[in-house]
Amino acid sequence: MRTTTGWQATGPMALRRTTLERRDLRPDDIAVQVGHCGVCHTDLHALRDHDQHTSAPLVPGHEFTGVVTAIGPEVSVFSVGDRVAVGNIVDSCGVCAMCEAGQENFCHSFPTLTYGGTDRRDGSTTLGGYSREYVVRDAFAYPLPSGLDPAAAAPLLCAGVTVWEPLRSLGVGPGSRVAVAGLGGLGHLAVKMAVALGATTTVISRTRDKHRDARRLGAHDLIDSTDTRQMAAARDTFDVVLDTIPAAHDLAPYLRSVAMDGTLSLLGYLGPLTVEAMDLLVGRKKLSSAGSAGRPATAEMLRFCAGNGIVADVEVLPSAQVLTALDRLRRDDVRYRFVLDLSDLD
Ligand SMILES: [Zn+2]
Ligand SMILES: [Zn+2]
Repeated sequence: MRTTTGWQATGPMALRRTTLERRDLRPDDIAVQVGHCGVCHTDLHALRDHDQHTSAPLVPGHEFTGVVTAIGPEVSVFSVGDRVAVGNIVDSCGVCAMCEAGQENFCHSFPTLTYGGTDRRDGSTTLGGYSREYVVRDAFAYPLPSGLDPAAAAPLLCAGVTVWEPLRSLGVGPGSRVAVAGLGGLGHLAVKMAVALGATTTVISRTRDKHRDARRLGAHDLIDSTDTRQMAAARDTFDVVLDTIPAAHDLAPYLRSVAMDGTLSLLGYLGPLTVEAMDLLVGRKKLSSAGSAGRPATAEMLRFCAGNGIVADVEVLPSAQVLTALDRLRRDDVRYRFVLDLSDLD
């Protein structure tokens, strides 16, 4: 076993700096010195629910960048010293219809999650990127294109791909009318990507002081979601609405803003909800969802972001301040993603 240092949960919203074990490299593994890891809502939820007596060991973190420090004998696509990025899945069965289609995120036997997952070969619980080293199959690491800042690029690997896949699969391009509901970690990247794809892009937000930011991010228009007149005026307007609001909310006003045959893609809140079928019937509207991305789309997203200079707006903190980051994320006090600098673990 290799050892490294990381932040492991010791109870609800409690983390302790500790020594972690990483597996010895398999033939197709690489070891990554983690430089930066984004702080995602998923980390917050996992930590809130953590009970050290009944839960599996928890080291959060599933959007990170770093440098390759060692490679297994069968690794050909990476060399020591390469910059790489790793997202929220680190393995899949490789043979089911979803994997065959390059949608490893939907693997029929469930993809191996970067943390809190079960390693397919030794059955151990995967430990995430809030640590100085990660060992990963080469197929689930991606070259980090030169020109992308490693701290600001880290959130592309979860927040970024989560909005990229629906934008691409729904055919967003020049002439598309896109709305992004909710301007947070996912939403701000959705705006940047939709604008770069050529879409006329509108932000729907309840937070008035985010409206200035929306313009800076490239949005063409703004709607205050608390203003019923503005929402009513947007009726049947958008080909695609990416709903990144992370809490349960009434979908009706958003569905009404979708154009005929358009789609509302639900990305932020993934729990049970109620939908009025009439809001779908009138205008033949579609309700969809997405999460994460397969390997081809992840690689494509990184190339697109490099080509268009897209990274997340980040606030970088030393990893010792991880609890501050989580607490401020919980209070929506970040523009727009915290990223931990893990060099303080040396
Ligand atoms: Zn995430
Ligand atoms: Zn599969």
